[in-house]
Amino acid sequence: MPPKSTPRQLAFRRRLTRWFRREGRDLPWRRTRDPYHVLVSEVMLQQTQVARVTDFYARFLARFPTLEELALAEQHEVHTLWQGLGYYRRATNLHRLAQVVVAEHAGRLPSEPERLLALPGVGRYTAGAVATFAFERATPAVDTNVGRVIRRAFHPRATGARGERRIWATAQLLQPRAGLPAWTFNQAIMELGALICTARVARCEVCPVRSACATGGRR
Ligand code: SF4
Repeated sequence: MPPKSTPRQLAFRRRLTRWFRREGRDLPWRRTRDPYHVLVSEVMLQQTQVARVTDFYARFLARFPTLEELALAEQHEVHTLWQGLGYYRRATNLHRLAQVVVAEHAGRLPSEPERLLALPGVGRYTAGAVATFAFERATPAVDTNVGRVIRRAFHPRATGARGERRIWATAQLLQPRAGLPAWTFNQAIMELGALICTARVARCEVCPVRSACATGGRR
């Protein structure tokens, strides 16, 4: 039988999702479940701030509203639209991914993280993010922000590859079953890492999960 969530993990989840429903930001990619649009936002958000991505996301999707249209584009046009976001490798991979999905998946992004992982430029985080944010799967998506929150809340001494494995395992245990609760939880933990439990400062005094947190609970 798979391990069960602990009472502390359940309290963390409950408090976090309640807070997110109240305080979560209304971002354009949170208003869609279109897998391609979710993917574009996730690729742009790697190494780029939310405020900057918002404009680029709208402009990119206005020119390439579907995966098929992106697949048919010339690479120089994709790069032109990417200008200002930097890290052009992301644009090259996204373009190649669109072509692979059209050629091998009839233009539809798969919903399983394992199959997403096989696509160009898709790592473990992006596969999880598309699976949960587009398909509402109960799949962890651990980026730097989420990893930091879970480390501080559950494994303050975790380091290295072993620490990384523990963090992903806890992220899995924290997942609700599926559907909207899974989507909400994964958005919420990301939001907490962006707004409250940041790399620069842990604002434990205003944190909604403080009573369930191994670090904040001691302060
Ligand atoms: S209580 Fe503090 S350390 Fe714990 S999750 Fe909140 S901000 Fe981070």
